Amino acid sequence: MKTNLYWFRNDLRIEDNHALYQCIQDSDFVVPIYIIDNSELGVDRWGFSKIGIFRRKFIAESLWDLKRQLKERGSDLFIFIGNTMEIIQELSNKYNCTTIYTTSEVTTEEQELEKKISEIINLLCIGHNTLYPIEDLPFSIDKLAKHFTGFREIVESKLYVQSCVSLPKKINLPETLHTIESLDFGHFYSSEQFTYPDYNQIVGGTSSALKRVNDFFWNSKSLSTYKETRNELKGDFYSSKLSPYLARGCISARQVYWFIQQYEEEVERNESTYWLYFELLWREYFKLVALQKGAKLFSRDGWAKHKPYFKEDREEFEKWRLGKTNEPLINAFQKELMQSGFMSNRGRQIVASYLVKNLQLDWRLGAAWFESILVDYDVASNYGNWTYQAGVGNDPQKDRVFNLKIQTEKYDPNNQFIGFWNKEIP
Ligand code: FAD
Repeated sequence: MKTNLYWFRNDLRIEDNHALYQCIQDSDFVVPIYIIDNSELGVDRWGFSKIGIFRRKFIAESLWDLKRQLKERGSDLFIFIGNTMEIIQELSNKYNCTTIYTTSEVTTEEQELEKKISEIINLLCIGHNTLYPIEDLPFSIDKLAKHFTGFREIVESKLYVQSCVSLPKKINLPETLHTIESLDFGHFYSSEQFTYPDYNQIVGGTSSALKRVNDFFWNSKSLSTYKETRNELKGDFYSSKLSPYLARGCISARQVYWFIQQYEEEVERNESTYWLYFELLWREYFKLVALQKGAKLFSRDGWAKHKPYFKEDREEFEKWRLGKTNEPLINAFQKELMQSGFMSNRGRQIVASYLVKNLQLDWRLGAAWFESILVDYDVASNYGNWTYQAGVGNDPQKDRVFNLKIQTEKYDPNNQFIGFWNKEIP
């Protein structure tokens, strides 16, 4: 009888989870685990919590939901806090597991951990939470297009999105494992530890992800107007708000793609329905950029030929972070982020550009703050977009600067967004 471990990371779902599917196929019994590594609980080199309150809450909710879904299939989820290597070693010895399965990650620290684990146990990494399997790309990763458009044109003309992988109704858990010691969640997140502002309504988990798809697609038909609304700043339906779910893998990009196809058949197909897929390609592109650039993704000069000047001025940075600059638009965005853990794509572009191009501050501080506070933090998307905005990454127009007056006139002509946040939080 073969018992194997399944190690959930940023793939907190059971549907369309290729690695989990393979694990179940290959095993008589599966032990599903999730580990919060000690190192993730601390602060980073700039003093920010590595996982801020919004993501903690979101992860905890996602784990509860996943645990419930696994239980419905006769299984369970065992959650630990500690040293990942030690926990995996201990569990595999204790339950005589031969192999550990997981979905691969594209970024350096995560890959280094995979390498270390494979030295102690047979590790099978399958898939990368992408729309297209990386093995199917019609180019090698070192030949990835320098700019997004080149990449998009190739994948659109040469690749098809495969159908989703579904799962057997039952996942066998060895009887003895029902007694496994799992984490008391209070160490990681308990609602009493934090007082939440009312603005944060994003609830973690696959069930909420599917509800959001239903609301954004079929109930409100917002998908039909997405291309026109996606740059708006305020409201529930200007964009999909699927990013936290995609980042933690509560839903896969492939599932979203097939929901778009279904909507196009049932409701309508137009530029907006295509545009959501277009945006998923940005996510895809940054994952490949991360894979290609490795540690450069986190270095100050990225892969720029002409290195921009960045100064170090923590006081000025704190004004930006806390929304205390002389610019009402920047302040409103930063207050929204601090209170909700979310900011629109337009907002992220504007505040990032302002930090690096106007204030000339080191972009890595801004990226680290986003890493801590964003509910949808995703390593590749965050650092890919920050290097892009800082002019040290894949932006073909490296000198682009947002004019705040024009942006305000265009996206907040009636002062609704600026007025709301600057009044709400002085
Ligand atoms: P929608 O407009 O509905 O787009 C649908 C999906 O497409 C998103 O959920 C996301 O998965 C993907 N997507 C859209 N735009 C981008 C983009 N520019 N890059 C990568 N993927 C994209 N996104 C994250 O998921 N995590 C991050 O940590 C993150 N950090 C960012 C930092 C900066 C400086 C900037 C400029 C952008 C960042 N983004 C990040 C990308 C983008 O802002 C968010 O994905 C988007 O605002 C999320 O809202 P949504 O789900 O409603 O997006």
